[in-house]
Amino acid sequence: MAGRHHLFVPGPTNVPHRVLSAMHRPMEDHRSSAFPELTRGLLDGLRPIFGTADARTVIFPATGTGGWEVALTNCLEPGARVLAVRNGQFSHLFADAADRLGFVVETIDVEWGEAVPADRLASRLADDREHTIAAVLIVHNETATGVRSDVGAVRSALDDAGHPALLLVDGVSSIGSMPFELDAWRVDVAITGSQKGLMLPAGLCIACLSDRAERAALAGTGARAYFDLRPMMAQNDDGYFPYTPPLSLLFGLREVLDVLAEETLPAVYARHVRLARGVRAAVRAWGLELCARAPEAYSDTVSAVVVPAGADAREVIDVAFRRYDLSLGGGLARLAGRVYRIGHLGDLNELMLLAAIGGSEMAMLDAGIRVDPGSGVAAAQAEWRRRADAVGATGA
Ligand code: PLP
Repeated sequence: MAGRHHLFVPGPTNVPHRVLSAMHRPMEDHRSSAFPELTRGLLDGLRPIFGTADARTVIFPATGTGGWEVALTNCLEPGARVLAVRNGQFSHLFADAADRLGFVVETIDVEWGEAVPADRLASRLADDREHTIAAVLIVHNETATGVRSDVGAVRSALDDAGHPALLLVDGVSSIGSMPFELDAWRVDVAITGSQKGLMLPAGLCIACLSDRAERAALAGTGARAYFDLRPMMAQNDDGYFPYTPPLSLLFGLREVLDVLAEETLPAVYARHVRLARGVRAAVRAWGLELCARAPEAYSDTVSAVVVPAGADAREVIDVAFRRYDLSLGGGLARLAGRVYRIGHLGDLNELMLLAAIGGSEMAMLDAGIRVDPGSGVAAAQAEWRRRADAVGATGA
């Protein structure tokens, strides 16, 4: 097909040209005396996206899924009890990973589309007077439903109960695109992958650890091999990795950190807020609903659009792909056929997103869903122009 493909799945996201170019270079010796400069620059440069001044960052050749294993196997004793909130497919899989690794998993289940219920967590933690729960597992931004949860409220629930459980947070589809405050929320382990807000191919799992998590990893007795933090931290301290690092991705990450620093993180976050508002305006104009229930839980990186009863979102996605060269995200597990997802994170701007909104509109019409042609595009345009006017008027 001629022209550009439009990639609007919520990861992998578009890789900026300068990042592609930065990765396109010869390999080098990862044991050379020059290598620590690269390692240290990356590990230091990652801290701002986690919202930390000095917590330890680590990079594993893996994906987000590997991050769950890093957090669980390093920071918890074998067979420990964890409390996992399940509000979508990724929080379900996080809990499932804990189960398969032999931890005792207790879950708090909510409707998919709801955020993490801090009040229910608080009451369960208050009941756990013996402190049998070793960790709380949550997903900051549930990519399956387009729901953002309040990590600060979860921290307050732990504090109010005087509960010492570790707080393990999956920030795979938020970190780098939405504010994350590891220090302020006292998150013990936050994990992300390279292929979403960090605008790289998949292949890096990045984690950030509190002092407590680091101490737990050092003292832990559980079996670990590839994802063992001990050799990783020891080698990182000298600027190296315990095994061959994926150099191309590291060169790309160095460029990504420059890209983010040049735009500045506040501007990156504000852009994601603005773009998400335009998508939501389009969904409203179509007369459709988001899977996310409460407006305060709307994600700024992904919107899951519920199709009308009788329609099949899979058809919308397939038509968009085959006829219009547009990739939209599918509904996962129990949401299959009921939602399609528009990823609006990473290297994108208003006009790119108008293509996704316009293409969604065409694909929905082709799939027999009655929306007013052009209504979503017009609503998003109006939303973005209104904001541009406001900026002009205040001179801000
Ligand atoms: N957690 C969340 C919130 C995700 O969105 C994803 C993937 O989309 C994952 C975990 C799994 O990450 P990966 O596919 O990189 O293993």
